[in-house]
Amino acid sequence: MDLSQAIRDKARELLETGAVKCVIGYETGTDGINARPAFIYEAAEVDRLIFDETCGHNLATYLLHHRAENIAVVVKPCDSRAINLLHGEHQIERDKVYIIGVVCPGVVGRQWGVKGRQLLPACQACTDRNPVVYDYLVGEPVAEGAPAPAPPLPEVEDLERMPPEERCQFWRREFERCIRCYACRQACPGCQCTECFVERLEPEWVGIRIDAPQNWMWHTIRAFHLAGRCIECQACRRACPVDIRLDLLNHKLAWEVAQLFNFRPGMTAEALFPLATFVRDEKLGVGEWASS
Ligand code: SF4
Ligand code: SF4
Ligand code: SF4
Repeated sequence: MDLSQAIRDKARELLETGAVKCVIGYETGTDGINARPAFIYEAAEVDRLIFDETCGHNLATYLLHHRAENIAVVVKPCDSRAINLLHGEHQIERDKVYIIGVVCPGVVGRQWGVKGRQLLPACQACTDRNPVVYDYLVGEPVAEGAPAPAPPLPEVEDLERMPPEERCQFWRREFERCIRCYACRQACPGCQCTECFVERLEPEWVGIRIDAPQNWMWHTIRAFHLAGRCIECQACRRACPVDIRLDLLNHKLAWEVAQLFNFRPGMTAEALFPLATFVRDEKLGVGEWASS
């Protein structure tokens, strides 16, 4: 099946019938190779839409800016989990969103003017091929076993084997490079606060100075806010202009949450997030918690 053509045909139908005001999909970017988000309002424009392995952006995030309109959005499996996340957290109304789900071939690394050859590490490890929620499916569904978290990335395992001080040095070096542009936050479907803690002055959680301690604080708090909510779409890592390995941090947290709570966010809209709930007499069975 030609995925691009199938998306165009469905987009044309939705716009011609007035079912939606806009279709958010992908089009070829200005380098002529890598995809970028496209906002299609007219049926005559649907031929701009494409789908290929450069379609990395998580378009579900844009739904946060179109809450009042009926919108169609193209999603890969990880992005479809973001739809459930947003729906479950009451950020979108499900009946205003028409989901065009795509069976995912994985996405490649991004470089201006160059077609990536290798799937991103997280896509290589990803066990999801079919969107978990959709109104229309593009592509042939792939037979999958029971949904399972992706196994730990080899690079995360390498980090785990390091002595704590060495691991700390690794993250210090990563965080020192951060220029605090917040592109990672803007690209993330889980970062929905109207006022981010990092911009608050009362109380001031993080100073405005861009230095190692403040950067460390920014990344630590953001990681905690995303623990148990990150759907591992990699949008933050792709958005980062200095290529900080946010994917390793997010993957580690997602893996820990999956092991401790048998939970993967976004698989349904109804599931309660383990770190936002309290179960009396809960025992995690690890470390000091097990002996308490
Ligand atoms: S993480 Fe999985 S679902 Fe998401 S783009 Fe990669 S292969 Fe597709
Ligand atoms: S933290 Fe990164 S990988 Fe996780 S949901 Fe947000 S953008 Fe996606
Ligand atoms: S996108 Fe990269 S440089 Fe910008 S705030 Fe996030 S981690 Fe820092």
